[in-house]
Amino acid sequence: MRFDVLTLFPEMLEAVLGNSIIGRARESGLVTLNFHNIRDYTADKHRRVDDYPYGGGSGMVMQAAPIYNAFMHLTEGLADKPIVVYLSPQGKPFTQTIAKEMLANKHYILLCGHYEGVDERILEKIVDIEISLGDFVLTGGEIPAMAVIDAVCRMVPGVLCDEAAFTEESHYNGLLEYPHYTRPADFMGQLVPEILLNGHHANIEKWRHEQAMLRTQQKRPDMYEKVIQNESGKKTSRKV
Ligand code: SAM
Repeated sequence: MRFDVLTLFPEMLEAVLGNSIIGRARESGLVTLNFHNIRDYTADKHRRVDDYPYGGGSGMVMQAAPIYNAFMHLTEGLADKPIVVYLSPQGKPFTQTIAKEMLANKHYILLCGHYEGVDERILEKIVDIEISLGDFVLTGGEIPAMAVIDAVCRMVPGVLCDEAAFTEESHYNGLLEYPHYTRPADFMGQLVPEILLNGHHANIEKWRHEQAMLRTQQKRPDMYEKVIQNESGKKTSRKV
């Protein structure tokens, strides 16, 4: 899995994605992450990459040419064109399902905007999909890019100790995960549920599923509704 990120702040990404699990995945060659400074692709002698918006208004707009030059440099000679993602508050809301789907392609270019965003014409020219981290506005696309990279890369085989480390987690199958406990068994009078201490794996499995259903119902009724609908849909189609 390879991500090339076009950004004005490569050091932000290196500081976060050079560490911990993703940092180790990079060292072992399971994932390749490259952070490219868009300023390296401007013809401006002061390395400027933004300009005033046509029509007036506040803020600056990132120019199309430096982004296009960076894209051309990165894709020169590649047989398969990478998928280009623009991180944008106007994009498709990012979910675990999108992260899973992204595993099907092996090379992405992520474009991080700043200021008012990028010149609209670069979206038309090179961008395949816009992804949003949520319905709020951040100062730049770097945090969303890091979130996307982390969510996708942790599902690359070998990055986590085994598949269950992510397939059993919240959102993977439409549920929130069951509660976790570790030692001590008694924390200031709060006891670990008895069922987790007796080593009966089938009962533990059943309890965990019930807990996952319960907390999804309590914390995310919207998700719970979908699970129930899917289950009743499956039952009806089995009867038919
Ligand atoms: N003027 C833009 C608008 O109203 O749609 C917002 C620009 S924002 C201040 C600057 C950059 O941050 C964007 O170009 C985008 O790359 C990034 N960004 C901000 N919020 C984001 C979000 N929720 N998801 C993904 N990227 C975001």
